[in-house]
Amino acid sequence: MNHVVILLAGLLFATAATAENKYPPVSVDMPLHRVGEHCYYVVGAPGTATENEGFISNAGFVVTDAGVVVFDSLGSPSLGWELRKHIASVTDKPVVKVVVSHYHADHIYGLQVFKDEGAEIIAPRGAYEYLDSPAAKNRIDERRVSLYPWVNDDTRLVKPDRVVEREFAFSLGGVDFQINYLGSAHSDGDMTMYVKPDRVLFSGDIIFEGRVPYVGDANTKRWLETLEALETNDLSALIPGHGPAASDPVAAIAGTREYLAYLREVMGAAVDELREFDSAYSEADWSRFEQLPAFEAANRRNAYQVFLSMEAEALAR
Ligand SMILES: [Zn+2]
Repeated sequence: MNHVVILLAGLLFATAATAENKYPPVSVDMPLHRVGEHCYYVVGAPGTATENEGFISNAGFVVTDAGVVVFDSLGSPSLGWELRKHIASVTDKPVVKVVVSHYHADHIYGLQVFKDEGAEIIAPRGAYEYLDSPAAKNRIDERRVSLYPWVNDDTRLVKPDRVVEREFAFSLGGVDFQINYLGSAHSDGDMTMYVKPDRVLFSGDIIFEGRVPYVGDANTKRWLETLEALETNDLSALIPGHGPAASDPVAAIAGTREYLAYLREVMGAAVDELREFDSAYSEADWSRFEQLPAFEAANRRNAYQVFLSMEAEALAR
């Protein structure tokens, strides 16, 4: 019997070592943080991907008696493997699901690590649109150069096993999860994951503490409604897609919510009054947001995007 155990342990070790060799090691620091009874996360570095071996986004995981749920997979298989080693340091349970906040390079290039161990990949609607787009191909081609050797010819874009287009709940090992689907908020499709017993929200890139978000092609109406719903959850922690956990989760949601609400108020009034964007923009009072990081870089474009989308909403009425 002992021999069998030793043999099994040896095989497991050999498998792990082989897997390790598949991924060129990273040298970035990736301390593990615990938040709540079941929840853990790592925090990407500020700055650009190429300065940080691709480690600029966050990822988390939730340990249950029936297996582990991972949230986002980081920006290379090597980083995904570092996360996998952290998981192994906490539990010997397998990773059974990976919930992907959205299909952007910095959140999905680690997916193959978990796919290869048999985890179900759950992604918001929009993932396939991204995977089929020239942008996805161009980005990975570029990353195979700029993030070599960590992103290389063995790095592959992993398709989701399940695509989500409405909110849903599931339970694993006695832990209740709530998935909120936001439509295209920050990307082609965005989701958040709320871990009920811990009151922890993994928010992806839709909540930015203390800075102006990039609105992009967002459906700001849907985004705003979701933030309003999340605000009532009395969170103990909020893990954003980038940067440290929010020091004040309620304030973090409120900050993004107030900004989006103001954009929609000002630009909605301009659309209703058939005004031109430029004059509506320059006459608006931005003083509440002017001091925030990224205001200069993002605000005018955000406002213009909201103006255009609210014109479209008005036409559809
Ligand atoms: Zn991101």
